[in-house]
Amino acid sequence: MQKLEHADADVVLVDKNDYHTFQPLLYQLATGLLETSAVGHSLRDLAHRQDNVTVHKATATFVDFDKREVHFDEITPESYDYLVIGFGAEVNFFGTGGAAEHAFPMYTLTDAMRLKNHVLKMWEEADKNPALIDDGGLNVVVVGGGPTGVESAGALAELYRGDFAKDYRDIPQEKARIILVEAGQELFPMFKEKLRTYTEKALTKRGVEVRVGEAVASVAPTRVTLKSGEELAAHTLVWGAGLQGNALVQSLGLELERGNRIGVGPELTVAGHPEVYAVGDIAAITDAKTETVLPQLGSVALQSGEQAGEAIARRIAGKEPKPFKYRDKGTMATIGRGAAVVQMLGGRTMTGKTAQLAWGTVHLALLPTNEDRAKAVVDWAGAGLSHQRSGRITVEVGDSER
Ligand SMILES: Cc1cc2nc3c(=O)[nH]c(=O)nc-3n(C[C@H](O)[C@H](O)[C@H](O)COP(=O)(O)OP(=O)(O)OC[C@H]3O[C@@H](n4cnc5c(N)ncnc54)[C@H](O)[C@@H]3O)c2cc1C
Repeated sequence: MQKLEHADADVVLVDKNDYHTFQPLLYQLATGLLETSAVGHSLRDLAHRQDNVTVHKATATFVDFDKREVHFDEITPESYDYLVIGFGAEVNFFGTGGAAEHAFPMYTLTDAMRLKNHVLKMWEEADKNPALIDDGGLNVVVVGGGPTGVESAGALAELYRGDFAKDYRDIPQEKARIILVEAGQELFPMFKEKLRTYTEKALTKRGVEVRVGEAVASVAPTRVTLKSGEELAAHTLVWGAGLQGNALVQSLGLELERGNRIGVGPELTVAGHPEVYAVGDIAAITDAKTETVLPQLGSVALQSGEQAGEAIARRIAGKEPKPFKYRDKGTMATIGRGAAVVQMLGGRTMTGKTAQLAWGTVHLALLPTNEDRAKAVVDWAGAGLSHQRSGRITVEVGDSER
Protein backbone atom coordinates (compact mmCIF):
# COMPACT_ATOMS: atom_id res chain seq x y z
CA MET A 1 0.00 0.00 0.00
CA GLN A 2 2.65 2.53 1.08
CA LYS A 3 4.76 1.99 -2.07
CA LEU A 4 1.73 3.12 -4.11
CA GLU A 5 1.51 6.49 -2.35
CA HIS A 6 2.73 8.47 -5.36
CA ALA A 7 1.22 6.19 -8.04
CA ASP A 8 -1.68 7.29 -10.21
CA ALA A 9 -3.88 4.65 -8.59
CA ASP A 10 -6.87 4.18 -6.31
CA VAL A 11 -5.74 1.69 -3.69
CA VAL A 12 -8.34 -0.40 -1.84
CA LEU A 13 -7.09 -2.20 1.26
CA VAL A 14 -9.46 -4.90 2.51
CA ASP A 15 -8.90 -7.06 5.60
CA LYS A 16 -11.27 -9.18 7.65
CA ASN A 17 -9.92 -7.35 10.74
CA ASP A 18 -9.66 -3.60 11.21
CA TYR A 19 -6.07 -4.01 12.41
CA HIS A 20 -2.65 -5.21 11.32
CA THR A 21 -1.21 -7.94 13.56
CA PHE A 22 2.49 -8.14 14.30
CA GLN A 23 2.68 -11.90 14.86
CA PRO A 24 6.30 -12.09 16.09
CA LEU A 25 5.24 -10.37 19.34
CA LEU A 26 2.02 -12.32 19.97
CA TYR A 27 3.65 -14.48 22.63
CA GLN A 28 4.67 -11.28 24.47
CA LEU A 29 1.02 -10.18 24.48
CA ALA A 30 -0.11 -13.63 25.63
CA THR A 31 2.30 -13.49 28.57
CA GLY A 32 1.49 -9.94 29.64
CA LEU A 33 4.73 -8.26 28.49
CA LEU A 34 3.15 -6.10 25.78
CA GLU A 35 -0.19 -4.34 25.50
CA THR A 36 -2.64 -5.18 22.68
CA SER A 37 -2.00 -1.92 20.85
CA ALA A 38 1.73 -2.65 20.57
CA VAL A 39 0.95 -5.84 18.62
CA GLY A 40 -2.14 -4.76 16.66
CA HIS A 41 -2.34 -1.47 14.76
CA SER A 42 -5.47 0.12 13.24
CA LEU A 43 -5.43 -0.26 9.44
CA ARG A 44 -7.38 2.97 9.03
CA ASP A 45 -4.69 4.76 11.01
CA LEU A 46 -1.97 3.26 8.79
CA ALA A 47 -3.84 4.65 5.76
CA HIS A 48 -4.23 8.20 7.18
CA ARG A 49 -1.18 9.61 5.47
CA GLN A 50 -2.16 8.26 2.07
CA ASP A 51 -4.92 10.10 0.20
CA ASN A 52 -5.32 7.45 -2.50
CA VAL A 53 -6.24 4.61 -0.07
CA THR A 54 -9.70 3.37 0.94
CA VAL A 55 -9.95 0.82 3.74
CA HIS A 56 -12.73 -1.76 4.16
CA LYS A 57 -13.19 -4.34 6.90
CA ALA A 58 -14.59 -7.34 5.00
CA THR A 59 -13.78 -11.00 4.41
CA ALA A 60 -12.75 -12.03 0.90
CA THR A 61 -14.61 -15.15 -0.20
CA PHE A 62 -13.69 -15.57 -3.85
CA VAL A 63 -11.54 -14.10 -6.61
CA ASP A 64 -12.93 -14.06 -10.15
CA PHE A 65 -9.70 -13.81 -12.15
CA ASP A 66 -11.52 -13.61 -15.51
CA LYS A 67 -13.74 -10.69 -14.47
CA ARG A 68 -10.94 -9.24 -12.30
CA GLU A 69 -13.17 -8.98 -9.25
CA VAL A 70 -12.80 -9.90 -5.60
CA HIS A 71 -15.96 -10.99 -3.76
CA PHE A 72 -16.53 -10.40 -0.07
CA ASP A 73 -18.96 -11.47 2.65
CA GLU A 74 -20.05 -8.00 3.67
CA ILE A 75 -19.49 -5.63 0.73
CA THR A 76 -20.14 -5.61 -3.00
CA PRO A 77 -17.37 -7.01 -5.25
CA GLU A 78 -14.34 -4.80 -5.90
CA SER A 79 -12.92 -4.80 -9.41
CA TYR A 80 -9.20 -4.38 -9.98
CA ASP A 81 -6.52 -3.68 -12.57
CA TYR A 82 -3.88 -5.10 -10.26
CA LEU A 83 -4.48 -7.42 -7.31
CA VAL A 84 -2.12 -8.19 -4.41
CA ILE A 85 -3.04 -11.33 -2.45
CA GLY A 86 -1.60 -11.42 1.08
CA PHE A 87 -4.02 -13.64 3.01
CA GLY A 88 -1.25 -15.07 5.20
CA ALA A 89 -1.15 -18.50 6.76
CA GLU A 90 -3.24 -20.23 9.38
CA VAL A 91 -2.74 -22.90 12.00
CA ASN A 92 -2.31 -26.53 10.91
CA PHE A 93 -3.23 -29.11 13.55
CA PHE A 94 -2.20 -31.97 11.21
CA GLY A 95 -5.44 -33.80 12.12
CA THR A 96 -4.47 -34.16 15.81
CA GLY A 97 -7.60 -35.32 17.66
CA GLY A 98 -9.17 -32.66 19.87
CA ALA A 99 -6.61 -29.98 18.94
CA ALA A 100 -9.05 -27.79 17.01
CA GLU A 101 -11.45 -27.79 19.99
CA HIS A 102 -9.07 -27.65 22.95
CA ALA A 103 -5.66 -26.34 21.89
CA PHE A 104 -4.58 -22.72 22.16
CA PRO A 105 -2.94 -21.75 18.86
CA MET A 106 -0.68 -18.68 18.70
CA TYR A 107 -1.32 -17.10 15.33
CA THR A 108 -3.78 -14.26 15.85
CA LEU A 109 -4.41 -11.42 18.27
CA THR A 110 -7.53 -13.25 19.47
CA ASP A 111 -5.43 -16.40 20.07
CA ALA A 112 -2.94 -14.46 22.20
CA MET A 113 -5.67 -12.74 24.25
CA ARG A 114 -7.52 -16.04 24.71
CA LEU A 115 -4.37 -17.77 25.99
CA LYS A 116 -3.54 -14.91 28.35
CA ASN A 117 -7.04 -14.84 29.83
CA HIS A 118 -7.10 -18.63 30.17
CA VAL A 119 -3.73 -18.83 31.96
CA LEU A 120 -4.64 -15.98 34.33
CA LYS A 121 -7.99 -17.65 35.03
CA MET A 122 -6.32 -21.00 35.82
CA TRP A 123 -4.01 -19.36 38.40
CA GLU A 124 -6.90 -17.45 40.00
CA GLU A 125 -8.95 -20.67 40.19
CA ALA A 126 -6.00 -22.60 41.63
CA ASP A 127 -5.64 -19.87 44.26
CA LYS A 128 -9.22 -20.61 45.37
CA ASN A 129 -9.15 -24.38 44.80
CA PRO A 130 -5.73 -26.03 45.41
CA ALA A 131 -7.08 -29.43 44.20
CA LEU A 132 -6.86 -27.99 40.71
CA ILE A 133 -3.07 -27.77 41.03
CA ASP A 134 -2.77 -31.53 41.59
CA ASP A 135 -5.02 -32.12 38.58
CA GLY A 136 -2.48 -30.30 36.34
CA GLY A 137 -4.52 -27.12 36.20
CA LEU A 138 -1.41 -24.95 35.98
CA ASN A 139 0.59 -27.25 33.70
CA VAL A 140 1.09 -26.11 30.13
CA VAL A 141 2.13 -28.32 27.23
CA VAL A 142 3.65 -26.31 24.39
CA VAL A 143 3.78 -28.15 21.06
CA GLY A 144 6.51 -27.33 18.54
CA GLY A 145 10.25 -26.79 18.89
CA GLY A 146 10.39 -23.98 16.30
CA PRO A 147 10.43 -20.25 17.11
CA THR A 148 6.72 -20.04 18.05
CA GLY A 149 6.92 -22.95 20.52
CA VAL A 150 10.30 -22.03 22.00
CA GLU A 151 9.49 -18.33 22.39
CA SER A 152 6.09 -19.14 23.95
CA ALA A 153 7.57 -21.70 26.37
CA GLY A 154 10.37 -19.32 27.40
CA ALA A 155 7.98 -16.42 27.97
CA LEU A 156 5.49 -18.57 29.91
CA ALA A 157 8.36 -19.81 32.10
CA GLU A 158 9.34 -16.22 32.93
CA LEU A 159 5.72 -15.36 33.67
CA TYR A 160 5.39 -18.42 35.93
CA ARG A 161 8.79 -18.34 37.69
CA GLY A 162 8.99 -14.55 37.90
CA ASP A 163 5.64 -12.78 38.25
CA PHE A 164 3.37 -15.65 39.34
CA ALA A 165 5.90 -16.90 41.93
CA LYS A 166 5.43 -13.53 43.64
CA ASP A 167 1.71 -13.10 42.81
CA TYR A 168 0.70 -16.53 44.18
CA ARG A 169 3.16 -17.21 47.00
CA ASP A 170 1.19 -20.18 48.37
CA ILE A 171 1.29 -22.12 45.09
CA PRO A 172 4.41 -24.30 44.85
CA GLN A 173 6.16 -23.56 41.55
CA GLU A 174 7.26 -27.18 41.04
CA LYS A 175 3.57 -28.06 40.67
CA ALA A 176 3.20 -25.69 37.71
CA ARG A 177 5.02 -27.42 34.86
CA ILE A 178 5.79 -26.14 31.38
CA ILE A 179 6.54 -28.99 29.01
CA LEU A 180 7.80 -28.32 25.47
CA VAL A 181 7.08 -31.24 23.12
CA GLU A 182 8.86 -31.53 19.76
CA ALA A 183 8.37 -34.46 17.38
CA GLY A 184 11.84 -34.13 15.81
CA GLN A 185 15.05 -35.07 17.56
CA GLU A 186 15.95 -31.46 18.44
CA LEU A 187 14.68 -27.93 18.91
CA PHE A 188 15.31 -25.26 16.27
CA PRO A 189 16.41 -27.56 13.43
CA MET A 190 17.14 -24.48 11.25
CA PHE A 191 19.95 -23.35 13.56
CA LYS A 192 23.53 -24.59 14.01
CA GLU A 193 24.13 -27.21 16.69
CA LYS A 194 25.70 -24.82 19.20
CA LEU A 195 22.57 -22.59 19.04
CA ARG A 196 20.34 -25.64 19.49
CA THR A 197 22.32 -26.72 22.57
CA TYR A 198 22.24 -23.15 23.94
CA THR A 199 18.45 -23.00 23.44
CA GLU A 200 17.79 -26.24 25.27
CA LYS A 201 20.01 -25.18 28.18
CA ALA A 202 18.40 -21.72 28.39
CA LEU A 203 14.91 -23.23 28.47
CA THR A 204 15.85 -25.84 31.08
CA LYS A 205 17.42 -23.12 33.23
CA ARG A 206 14.08 -21.29 33.12
CA GLY A 207 12.25 -24.39 34.33
CA VAL A 208 10.90 -25.68 31.00
CA GLU A 209 10.91 -29.48 30.56
CA VAL A 210 12.06 -30.21 27.01
CA ARG A 211 10.76 -33.42 25.43
CA VAL A 212 12.16 -34.10 21.94
CA GLY A 213 11.33 -37.10 19.75
CA GLU A 214 7.78 -37.10 21.18
CA ALA A 215 4.58 -36.00 19.49
CA VAL A 216 1.09 -35.15 20.70
CA ALA A 217 -1.50 -37.77 19.70
CA SER A 218 -4.63 -36.13 21.08
CA VAL A 219 -5.84 -33.28 23.24
CA ALA A 220 -8.67 -33.22 25.79
CA PRO A 221 -9.66 -30.28 28.00
CA THR A 222 -7.50 -31.41 30.93
CA ARG A 223 -5.24 -34.12 29.45
CA VAL A 224 -2.70 -34.39 26.62
CA THR A 225 -1.89 -37.84 25.26
CA LEU A 226 1.49 -38.36 23.60
CA LYS A 227 2.16 -40.81 20.74
CA SER A 228 4.18 -42.96 23.19
CA GLY A 229 0.92 -43.44 25.14
CA GLU A 230 1.98 -41.26 28.06
CA GLU A 231 -0.77 -39.02 29.41
CA LEU A 232 0.15 -35.56 30.69
CA ALA A 233 -2.17 -33.77 33.11
CA ALA A 234 -2.43 -30.27 31.63
CA HIS A 235 -5.38 -27.92 31.25
CA THR A 236 -3.54 -25.83 28.66
CA LEU A 237 -1.97 -26.88 25.38
CA VAL A 238 -0.30 -24.16 23.31
CA TRP A 239 -0.02 -25.11 19.63
CA GLY A 240 2.99 -23.71 17.80
CA ALA A 241 3.63 -26.67 15.56
CA GLY A 242 2.54 -25.83 12.09
CA LEU A 243 1.19 -23.46 9.51
CA GLN A 244 -0.61 -23.86 6.23
CA GLY A 245 -1.72 -21.41 3.56
CA ASN A 246 -5.04 -19.68 4.22
CA ALA A 247 -7.92 -22.08 3.37
CA LEU A 248 -9.37 -19.61 0.85
CA VAL A 249 -6.52 -20.17 -1.62
CA GLN A 250 -7.66 -23.74 -2.19
CA SER A 251 -10.81 -22.40 -3.86
CA LEU A 252 -9.01 -20.04 -6.24
CA GLY A 253 -8.18 -22.63 -8.91
CA LEU A 254 -4.47 -21.78 -8.74
CA GLU A 255 -1.71 -24.35 -8.73
CA LEU A 256 -0.53 -24.59 -5.14
CA GLU A 257 2.83 -25.62 -3.77
CA ARG A 258 3.74 -27.32 -0.46
CA GLY A 259 1.74 -25.97 2.49
CA ASN A 260 -1.02 -24.52 0.24
CA ARG A 261 1.21 -21.66 -0.87
CA ILE A 262 0.76 -19.91 -4.24
CA GLY A 263 3.82 -20.35 -6.48
CA VAL A 264 5.02 -17.03 -7.94
CA GLY A 265 7.58 -16.00 -10.53
CA PRO A 266 10.61 -13.70 -10.07
CA GLU A 267 8.36 -10.60 -10.09
CA LEU A 268 5.98 -12.24 -7.58
CA THR A 269 3.14 -12.55 -10.10
CA VAL A 270 0.93 -15.63 -10.35
CA ALA A 271 1.32 -17.94 -13.39
CA GLY A 272 -1.16 -16.97 -16.13
CA HIS A 273 -2.20 -13.76 -14.29
CA PRO A 274 0.52 -11.09 -14.70
CA GLU A 275 -1.75 -8.53 -12.98
CA VAL A 276 -2.03 -10.66 -9.82
CA TYR A 277 0.71 -10.64 -7.16
CA ALA A 278 0.96 -13.03 -4.20
CA VAL A 279 3.10 -11.91 -1.25
CA GLY A 280 4.03 -12.92 2.29
CA ASP A 281 3.17 -16.25 3.91
CA ILE A 282 0.64 -17.19 1.22
CA ALA A 283 3.31 -17.11 -1.50
CA ALA A 284 5.99 -19.69 -2.29
CA ILE A 285 8.77 -17.29 -3.34
CA THR A 286 11.98 -18.79 -4.68
CA ASP A 287 15.07 -16.85 -3.63
CA ALA A 288 17.05 -15.98 -6.77
CA LYS A 289 20.36 -16.35 -4.87
CA THR A 290 19.86 -19.67 -3.12
CA GLU A 291 17.16 -21.12 -5.40
CA THR A 292 15.23 -22.29 -2.35
CA VAL A 293 11.71 -21.31 -1.30
CA LEU A 294 11.91 -18.51 1.26
CA PRO A 295 10.56 -19.22 4.76
CA GLN A 296 7.31 -17.72 6.10
CA LEU A 297 8.95 -14.80 7.88
CA GLY A 298 8.05 -11.20 8.61
CA SER A 299 11.03 -9.89 6.64
CA VAL A 300 9.98 -11.91 3.56
CA ALA A 301 6.40 -10.63 3.93
CA LEU A 302 7.50 -7.01 4.30
CA GLN A 303 9.98 -7.09 1.42
CA SER A 304 7.66 -8.99 -0.94
CA GLY A 305 4.79 -6.58 -0.17
CA GLU A 306 7.05 -3.62 -0.90
CA GLN A 307 8.20 -5.30 -4.10
CA ALA A 308 4.60 -5.78 -5.32
CA GLY A 309 3.74 -2.14 -4.55
CA GLU A 310 6.86 -0.86 -6.31
CA ALA A 311 6.31 -3.12 -9.33
CA ILE A 312 2.71 -1.95 -9.76
CA ALA A 313 3.76 1.71 -9.39
CA ARG A 314 6.42 1.19 -12.09
CA ARG A 315 3.96 -0.51 -14.43
CA ILE A 316 1.42 2.30 -14.00
CA ALA A 317 4.20 4.78 -14.82
CA GLY A 318 5.03 2.77 -17.95
CA LYS A 319 8.30 1.42 -16.57
CA GLU A 320 9.59 -2.17 -16.43
CA PRO A 321 9.25 -3.81 -13.00
CA LYS A 322 12.40 -5.25 -11.41
CA PRO A 323 12.70 -8.86 -10.20
CA PHE A 324 12.49 -9.53 -6.45
CA LYS A 325 15.75 -9.69 -4.51
CA TYR A 326 15.49 -10.84 -0.91
CA ARG A 327 17.79 -9.19 1.64
CA ASP A 328 18.40 -11.78 4.35
CA LYS A 329 18.68 -10.21 7.82
CA GLY A 330 19.50 -13.54 9.48
CA THR A 331 17.36 -16.00 11.43
CA MET A 332 16.72 -15.29 15.07
CA ALA A 333 14.59 -16.09 18.09
CA THR A 334 14.35 -15.12 21.76
CA ILE A 335 14.14 -17.57 24.62
CA GLY A 336 13.82 -15.14 27.51
CA ARG A 337 15.34 -12.12 29.17
CA GLY A 338 18.98 -11.87 28.02
CA ALA A 339 18.72 -15.12 26.05
CA ALA A 340 18.35 -15.26 22.27
CA VAL A 341 19.96 -16.87 19.23
CA VAL A 342 20.92 -15.31 15.90
CA GLN A 343 22.35 -16.97 12.81
CA MET A 344 23.50 -14.68 10.03
CA LEU A 345 23.54 -15.54 6.32
CA GLY A 346 27.30 -16.21 6.25
CA GLY A 347 26.95 -18.62 9.21
CA ARG A 348 28.03 -16.17 11.97
CA THR A 349 26.14 -16.77 15.19
CA MET A 350 25.31 -14.82 18.34
CA THR A 351 23.76 -15.80 21.65
CA GLY A 352 22.75 -14.08 24.89
CA LYS A 353 22.29 -10.35 25.34
CA THR A 354 23.99 -9.40 22.04
CA ALA A 355 21.64 -11.70 20.18
CA GLN A 356 18.67 -10.27 22.04
CA LEU A 357 19.72 -6.76 21.07
CA ALA A 358 20.01 -7.82 17.41
CA TRP A 359 16.59 -9.53 17.64
CA GLY A 360 15.07 -6.37 19.15
CA THR A 361 16.57 -4.12 16.48
CA VAL A 362 15.37 -6.28 13.57
CA HIS A 363 11.88 -6.72 15.02
CA LEU A 364 11.46 -3.04 15.86
CA ALA A 365 12.27 -2.27 12.21
CA LEU A 366 9.50 -4.65 11.13
CA LEU A 367 6.82 -2.89 13.22
CA PRO A 368 4.57 -0.67 11.08
CA THR A 369 5.05 2.75 12.75
CA ASN A 370 7.39 4.68 15.07
CA GLU A 371 4.55 4.84 17.60
CA ASP A 372 4.48 1.01 17.76
CA ARG A 373 8.28 0.94 18.11
CA ALA A 374 8.10 3.44 20.99
CA LYS A 375 5.37 1.41 22.74
CA ALA A 376 7.38 -1.82 22.46
CA VAL A 377 10.58 -0.15 23.69
CA VAL A 378 8.78 1.37 26.70
CA ASP A 379 7.19 -1.99 27.63
CA TRP A 380 10.47 -3.88 27.13
CA ALA A 381 12.46 -1.31 29.12
CA GLY A 382 9.85 -1.33 31.91
CA ALA A 383 9.93 -5.13 32.11
CA GLY A 384 13.74 -5.16 31.92
CA LEU A 385 14.05 -2.80 34.88
CA SER A 386 11.23 -4.11 37.05
CA HIS A 387 11.16 -7.79 35.86
CA GLN A 388 7.37 -7.32 35.76
CA ARG A 389 4.87 -8.20 33.06
CA SER A 390 2.41 -5.41 33.69
CA GLY A 391 -0.21 -6.69 31.22
CA ARG A 392 -1.16 -9.67 33.44
CA ILE A 393 -4.75 -8.58 34.08
CA THR A 394 -7.94 -10.12 32.74
CA VAL A 395 -10.48 -7.90 31.05
CA GLU A 396 -13.61 -9.85 30.19
CA VAL A 397 -15.69 -8.09 27.54
CA GLY A 398 -19.35 -7.99 28.51
CA ASP A 399 -18.63 -7.85 32.25
CA SER A 400 -20.26 -5.02 34.09
CA GLU A 401 -18.91 -3.88 37.42
CA ARG A 402 -22.06 -1.97 38.29
C1 LIG B 1 3.61 -16.74 16.56
C2 LIG B 1 4.41 -16.26 15.38
C3 LIG B 1 5.70 -15.76 15.58
C4 LIG B 1 6.44 -15.30 14.50
N1 LIG B 1 7.69 -14.81 14.74
C5 LIG B 1 8.41 -14.29 13.72
C6 LIG B 1 9.68 -13.72 13.95
O1 LIG B 1 10.18 -13.69 15.08
N2 LIG B 1 10.34 -13.15 12.90
C7 LIG B 1 9.81 -13.14 11.65
O2 LIG B 1 10.42 -12.61 10.72
N3 LIG B 1 8.61 -13.72 11.39
C8 LIG B 1 7.90 -14.28 12.38
N4 LIG B 1 6.67 -14.84 12.15
C9 LIG B 1 6.15 -14.87 10.76
C10 LIG B 1 5.54 -13.56 10.36
O3 LIG B 1 4.69 -13.06 11.37
C11 LIG B 1 4.74 -13.79 9.08
O4 LIG B 1 5.65 -14.28 8.13
C12 LIG B 1 4.07 -12.52 8.55
O5 LIG B 1 3.16 -12.00 9.49
C13 LIG B 1 3.34 -12.84 7.27
O6 LIG B 1 2.73 -11.68 6.82
P1 LIG B 1 1.51 -11.79 5.81
O7 LIG B 1 1.12 -10.37 5.52
O8 LIG B 1 1.83 -12.68 4.70
O9 LIG B 1 0.37 -12.51 6.61
P2 LIG B 1 -0.39 -12.04 7.94
O10 LIG B 1 0.47 -11.22 8.80
O11 LIG B 1 -0.96 -13.30 8.51
O12 LIG B 1 -1.55 -11.12 7.38
C14 LIG B 1 -2.61 -11.66 6.63
C15 LIG B 1 -3.79 -10.73 6.72
O13 LIG B 1 -4.82 -11.19 5.86
C16 LIG B 1 -6.06 -11.07 6.51
N5 LIG B 1 -6.96 -12.06 5.92
C17 LIG B 1 -6.83 -13.40 5.93
N6 LIG B 1 -7.84 -13.96 5.26
C18 LIG B 1 -8.62 -12.97 4.81
C19 LIG B 1 -9.82 -12.92 4.05
N7 LIG B 1 -10.41 -14.01 3.60
N8 LIG B 1 -10.35 -11.71 3.78
C20 LIG B 1 -9.78 -10.57 4.22
N9 LIG B 1 -8.64 -10.57 4.95
C21 LIG B 1 -8.07 -11.74 5.23
C22 LIG B 1 -5.76 -11.31 7.98
O14 LIG B 1 -6.72 -10.69 8.80
C23 LIG B 1 -4.39 -10.66 8.12
O15 LIG B 1 -4.47 -9.32 8.54
C24 LIG B 1 5.91 -15.34 13.20
C25 LIG B 1 4.62 -15.85 13.01
C26 LIG B 1 3.88 -16.30 14.08
C27 LIG B 1 2.50 -16.86 13.85
